[in-house]
Amino acid sequence: MNNQTERVRCLIIGSGPAGYTAAIYAARANMNPVLYEGLQPGGQLTTTTEVENFPGYPEGVTGPVLMDDLRRQAARVGADIRPGVATRTDFSTAPLKVWIDGSTLIEAETVIIATGATARYLGLPDESKYAGSGVSACATCDGFFYRGRNVAVVGGGDTAAEEAIYLAGIAKKVYLIVRRDQLRASKIMAERVQRNPNIEILWKHQTIGLFGDGVVEGAILVKNRGEADEEEVRIAIDGFFLAIGHTPNSDFVADYIERDAAGYIITQPGTSKTNVPGVFACGDVQDPHYRQAITSAGSGCIAAIDAERYLAEKYC
Ligand code: NDP
Repeated sequence: MNNQTERVRCLIIGSGPAGYTAAIYAARANMNPVLYEGLQPGGQLTTTTEVENFPGYPEGVTGPVLMDDLRRQAARVGADIRPGVATRTDFSTAPLKVWIDGSTLIEAETVIIATGATARYLGLPDESKYAGSGVSACATCDGFFYRGRNVAVVGGGDTAAEEAIYLAGIAKKVYLIVRRDQLRASKIMAERVQRNPNIEILWKHQTIGLFGDGVVEGAILVKNRGEADEEEVRIAIDGFFLAIGHTPNSDFVADYIERDAAGYIITQPGTSKTNVPGVFACGDVQDPHYRQAITSAGSGCIAAIDAERYLAEKYC
């Protein structure tokens, strides 16, 4: 094991739009940021195809190209971008301590957490088989490509309701696949879904597979699983959207940083400040609501400015 210790002014953990934007701002503020990219360099956007809603790309851009652009921009202004995963933290005393890959210890004056969230999947082999070919976990990102087509959304929470309503404005028909006989979504969202003529709710249905020649052409469902009248149902769809929740990647700071019941880092309203002075959070790891590349990027900018002001106040 390679045990090294390094002292930095600003450590950024995570390489989605939030992390890279924080790096751009921190580098330009002479904070000499060191950014560790984590398990999935570029974050969730590297798994999407076309991105048409990130301002500044009138012709659209693919997720991987967008992330590479942000990465190169951060590197060009001086961010030190490295491979590595933050595995452990100790925020009990200054300097803030973060271990990378279980060995390198970074002692930081400020830490910006931008580790994102991971969309939950059902765990079906077909989800990987058709990844990028009809399976998506983000209706706002990919819904546009299903104009006039039939799609399905899995889930019964607010995200599923929101995505079904969004897709209902684009697609020909939306099936909402709900595993129970009721929605978890808030009453107002549930009513909106139920009133929408383009949405058909498939109550007590569970997905067991997808089919199609190279791309999704349909889903195989089981209705009333485990009951006497259990039956297999096939629906013809071109898009299969997962909306069964996200898991924020925040476990590695759980001992020190306040999180909500779902694991999202709690920040002081209107800021990126966590409960630990000098530790800031941005992007999806602290945002259960918007989860867009542009809102993540904006919050990364906020985190870098908060970190810069924290350092300025500490040393003036
Ligand atoms: P939730 O955890 O609230 O809901 C997840 C949904 O997915 C539930 O209906 C759950 O079913 C279903 N589900 C989970 N696992 C499976 C599975 N294996 N198979 C089939 N269905 C499954 O997650 P959300 O992302 O919807 O919401 C997260 C939080 O964000 C919530 O607090 C929500 O209120 C909030 N939010 C608020 C919004 C707003 O205010 N506009 C918009 C979006 C989110 P079951 O009900 O049976 O457990």
